[in-house]
Amino acid sequence: MISCDKCGNRTEWLQVDSDAGGRWGVRSFYCRFDIKVTSGWRAVEKREGIGERRAILCASCKASLDSELTQELFEQEALRGTPLIFVAPDRVDLDRAIAEVKRTYGEGEGVVAVLESDRKREAKTVPLDSLKWLAPAARDAVQHKYGKPGKPVTLYRHQAKAIGAVRRGGSVVLSTATSSGKSLCFQLPFLHDIAATSDPHKRPAVLYLAPLNALIGDQFRSLKEFGTAKRETGAVAEFLQTVTIGGGDTCFVAAQYHGGVRVEGDDAQNSATGKLRRQIRSAKPNSCSRIRKCWQGPSCH
Ligand SMILES: [Zn+2]
Repeated sequence: MISCDKCGNRTEWLQVDSDAGGRWGVRSFYCRFDIKVTSGWRAVEKREGIGERRAILCASCKASLDSELTQELFEQEALRGTPLIFVAPDRVDLDRAIAEVKRTYGEGEGVVAVLESDRKREAKTVPLDSLKWLAPAARDAVQHKYGKPGKPVTLYRHQAKAIGAVRRGGSVVLSTATSSGKSLCFQLPFLHDIAATSDPHKRPAVLYLAPLNALIGDQFRSLKEFGTAKRETGAVAEFLQTVTIGGGDTCFVAAQYHGGVRVEGDDAQNSATGKLRRQIRSAKPNSCSRIRKCWQGPSCH
C-alpha cells in the first residue's frame, strides 16, 4: 500500500504525464487493494501547481512520491490505461484489508483470522487426521490427491488454522507464499460439506471468484484431482465435469465460466453456452447452502 509521507493519504493519487502529442495532462486514481484509474485525462492547469514532468502526486497535499516508486507505478498497467492492476503482496496492508472485509461483509458469526506464513521459518505441519470432524469421503478425496503410499497426509499449520476458521463460519484473509496450499483451505471445507450432506439437492454451492481467467482454469483442473472426474459430453465438455470423491457415490459438479469460455457448436436451437449457464444458475445458493468467497491474488494457485 502506498502512502504519502507528508499527510498520510493512502488512497487518492494524481498521475501527471504527457500524451503522444507532448501535451501534459493529469488524471486521478485511487488505491485500495488495487489501483483503479478513476478519471480521464485533463490538461494540466498552471494554477494547480502541478509541474510538467512525470510524477505521482498525493491528491490531498500534492507532495510527490519518491522517484523509485513513481517509476515502478508508471511501469504498471493501470497507469498505461488499463483500469486495474494488482499490488504485490508485500504492499498489501493486511490490517487495512481485514478492516475492509469487516466493513463490507460485517463481522458475522465468525472470526476474521489473520494468517501469514513466514517464508524464512520452516513450515510446521499437523496430520490431516487431526481434523476429527472431517467426513470420511472428504478425507479420502484429499488422500487421493495428495497422498503417497505409506505416508499420511499432513497439513501446514496455517492450513489447519484457516480450515478450522472457515468450518466455524468465519471469514478468512489468508496471505501466504505461492504454492503454500491456500486453495485447499477453502476446498477442504466444501468437500466436507458435500460429503456430509446425504441429500444431493441440499449440497452446498461454492462460488469461486478470481481476477484472472487462468486462475479459474487452474481451479477447474485442480478439482478433478480429488477423485474420478467425468467430463460432460458434447460442446460443454471443456467447461463442465462431475467429480466423484471417496470412491463412493458422493459427487459434485464443477463448472467454469469466464470471458474466455466460447462453446463450439452453439446454435439458437441448442445453445451449449446456455446449457452451461443454466447448470451454473441451478446451483445457486439456497437456504441450505452457503457461499464461500475466496480472496486470492494473481500469484495464487
Ligand atoms: Zn499528502
